[in-house]
Amino acid sequence: MAEKIFIVRCGEAALKGHNKSYFEKMLVDRIKKLLKRFEKTTVTRQEGLIFVRADESIPSDEIIKEISKVFGVASISPAEETAPNMEDIFDTAAEYMQKLIDEKGVKTFKVEAKRADKNFPVKSPDIARQVGGAVLKRCKVLSVDVHDPDVYLYVNVRRDKAYIYQQKIKGFGGLPLGTNGKGLVLLSGGIDSPVAAFMMAKRGMMIEALHFHSYPYTSQRAREKVEELAGKLAIYCSRFKMHVVNLLPIQEQIVQNCPEEETTILVRRFMMKIAQEIAMKNGCGMLITGESLGQVASQTSHSLICTDAAVDIPVMRPLIALDKVDIMEIAKDIGTYDISIQPYEDCCTVFLPKHPVTKPKLDRILASESLLDVDKLVEDAVASVETVDIYPR
Ligand code: ATP
Ligand code: MG
Repeated sequence: MAEKIFIVRCGEAALKGHNKSYFEKMLVDRIKKLLKRFEKTTVTRQEGLIFVRADESIPSDEIIKEISKVFGVASISPAEETAPNMEDIFDTAAEYMQKLIDEKGVKTFKVEAKRADKNFPVKSPDIARQVGGAVLKRCKVLSVDVHDPDVYLYVNVRRDKAYIYQQKIKGFGGLPLGTNGKGLVLLSGGIDSPVAAFMMAKRGMMIEALHFHSYPYTSQRAREKVEELAGKLAIYCSRFKMHVVNLLPIQEQIVQNCPEEETTILVRRFMMKIAQEIAMKNGCGMLITGESLGQVASQTSHSLICTDAAVDIPVMRPLIALDKVDIMEIAKDIGTYDISIQPYEDCCTVFLPKHPVTKPKLDRILASESLLDVDKLVEDAVASVETVDIYPR
């Protein structure tokens, strides 16, 4: 069977000292899972690198697309494999370059060589020089350009085999999914919270999601939009559970009993309290939100102090110091942006006060909150939760 080979480099997983093997194994498992639909594909790890072998008939693009979605992958290179001796390396390198000349009109190149096997008799700079010479002899149209070559030709000599490649396609980096506990993301239909979930998952955290709606003030279509967003996230974060809660009964209580300008902060504190209960019931050790300092009235430092004080478990806010334009860039990169900008109402925009407080004081907020039966409202909301399974889409 003719097969193609891809070299996959681990990012930080490679630095993890005693745990290196565990991280690499998690990475291999994730890659295997995503490549399952391609028959006869194998994924193995060997001395710090991961090798993916697939049938020649499978388009390289599709394989690269799948592998590059795996957190913990630093880069991917489609490679040629050959026996670890200079003659075979010369032949393979020359053939490889000839193909690039024919297909891409490559004119200049530079060889970078690495001898991972220190017993190999030729040292790295000499490998580079000799391979360069052999390629020049056989591919007459080529010349060497050490400053700005069309192609960097990489030669990596390892114990059992040598590899030749030119591209290093960047992955997301980060750490393999499942190596860092589980968090509950408060997922709205907006731009920010999906990015926040993505960023935590990129550091190895499994996620579950919690979405609040205010049906019938918010529509069924708004909820479908959130499920669509979640499905996009599941491409990277694997299948996960999404909990859905109707916040309307609580919002009505707040509107009827508390000062209008404090509505948003009070609603946000309830969201956090409900989230904490659902997190604890489902083995999630922390909450994740898409809050970013100063973005809106409910995210000023004073507001965040009040929101944060509502719960005891840690709240991760990975976007806290990012500008909106940078968050939007990430959203575009991961494919959530176009879904997020669809104009459907969010529960936060229902009962929006005309002049929200931007410098709320915690003692005043607590006083307003004490006008409500907080425990009972939270308990009822948690009891009404509906849970759906989210699959990649
Ligand atoms: P986003 O783009 O994430 O909607 P935003 O700028 O609209 O953010 P807010 O509406 O103040 O900000 O919400 C701040 C955070 O609170 C969100 O990032 C999200 O984590 C959470 N949140 C807001 N609305 C909801 C909701 N309907 N369901 C679940 N979580 C929500
Ligand atoms: Mg929002």
